[in-house]
Amino acid sequence: MSAILEVQNITKRFGENTVIDDISFTVNKGEVIVILGPSGCGKSTLLRCINGLEAIDGGTVSIDGDNISDSAGSIVKARSKIGMVFQSYELFPHLNVIDNVMLAPIKVQKRNKTEVRDEAAELLARVGLSDKLKSRPSELSGGQKQRAAIVRTLIMHPELLLFDEVTAALDPEMVREVLEVILDLANEGKTMMIVTHEMQFARAAADRIIMLDGGKIAEENTPERFFTEPRTERAKLFLDTFTYEKIRSKKAV
Ligand code: ADP
Ligand code: MG
Repeated sequence: MSAILEVQNITKRFGENTVIDDISFTVNKGEVIVILGPSGCGKSTLLRCINGLEAIDGGTVSIDGDNISDSAGSIVKARSKIGMVFQSYELFPHLNVIDNVMLAPIKVQKRNKTEVRDEAAELLARVGLSDKLKSRPSELSGGQKQRAAIVRTLIMHPELLLFDEVTAALDPEMVREVLEVILDLANEGKTMMIVTHEMQFARAAADRIIMLDGGKIAEENTPERFFTEPRTERAKLFLDTFTYEKIRSKKAV
């Protein structure tokens, strides 16, 4: 197994607040890591440190052996290997769907327009958007916009995909169509780190769960073990927050 991402002893502070506290882990090619943890525990900050959107205060992040903090040049190089999708799909409102997807490969990667158009159409068809190529973002549902945003990232051929709560802003009926796209990518062997609060999806998609709490890795485990017999009290408490069964029986007493 070859490592794509090596995170060694990274620390990130915002003023007095140590949000990431000496965290280390490795992600191998083809692995799907799901990051779980309570709100504010540093999940987004961790992803932002990995792709160089936040400067780290200690430790190293290496992508494919390149340390991202070595120089401005290595940040650019490392970031070209990482694709990130956020909760809010920032599609350009004045461009139609296929032009949104084609923009970066043509402008940034200087690729051939015809080849990019073919690939964009193919990827959009794969996520069920072949009838929306000429639609403006404002004509799409939230789930369709998020699928277009995923394609916009995929067309750059990143070696590592980061997803930060990409379904958190969606209506429930649209969550599944987006998660199914991500599951397809997992089955295809893409290397991904996914922050989500969708626990069934986490269990289905992950090769490994990393739970953060208090700036540390609270538990690292296989999804099967994490969800059925977590090792730590912290993970048990966290998983309990997704359970409702006790509430009614308490009321009934
Ligand atoms: P999560 O994604 O797990 O909800 P975040 O990574 O967004 O958590 O935030 C972790 C902590 O860092 C929180 O306490 C948050 O308030 C703080 N934080 C995040 N970004 C900043 C920032 N730019 N400046 C100051 N504090 C921040
Ligand atoms: Mg977050």
